[in-house]
Amino acid sequence: MSGDASVFFRVADVSALRYLGAMPLLPTHAANALNALRDRKHRITTPRREILAVLATDHGPFTIEEIHKRLGKQSCDIVTVYRNLATLEELGLVRRCDFGDRVYRYELNVDEHHHHIVCRVCAKVETLDLCAVAGLERMAKRMGYTSVTHSMELFGICPKCRKSKPNRSR
Ligand SMILES: [Zn+2]
Ligand SMILES: [Zn+2]
Ligand SMILES: [Zn+2]
Repeated sequence: MSGDASVFFRVADVSALRYLGAMPLLPTHAANALNALRDRKHRITTPRREILAVLATDHGPFTIEEIHKRLGKQSCDIVTVYRNLATLEELGLVRRCDFGDRVYRYELNVDEHHHHIVCRVCAKVETLDLCAVAGLERMAKRMGYTSVTHSMELFGICPKCRKSKPNRSR
C-alpha cells in the first residue's frame, strides 16, 4: 500500500469509526479507492483525494453540500465536488443512496451489505448492519429469479429530535 493510507488516518476522526461495529474501516476503503483510481489511470486530483478523505471520516452517506462544507474554505467549489462524485460513482468507488427525497447522498462503496435509517426531522442517517430481507431474496430465487438484489431504507424520528419535540413521541 502507498503512503496515502496515512493521509486518511490523519484526516479521519477515529472516534467516528467506533459506530461502525462490524463494518470495515473506512480509511482502508478510501485508500483502496485511491489505488483503484491510480490503477485505472485516472488522475488523483486534490478534490478527489479530499472528497474520499471526507467520506472516510464517517459512514455517511453525505449530501453534496455536507461534503463541500466538510472540505473547508480553501477547497474547490461545489460544482467540482458534484462532478468528482459523479466520476467516483461511475467508477464504483462511491455509492449514491436514494432515500426518495430527491437528495443525492454519497458514501464510500463498502462491499458489506447494509441499510440506513433516516431521521425525518433532522435528516441524520445511521447504518443498520442487519438485513432482514434475505428470506425474501431466497423466495424470489426459488421462483426462478436470478441476479436478485434489493434496496430498502428506513425512516423514523431520531431520539434527539424526539426529545426536543415531545409531541412527536409516538
Ligand atoms: Zn433527528
Ligand atoms: Zn451506508
Ligand atoms: Zn438488505
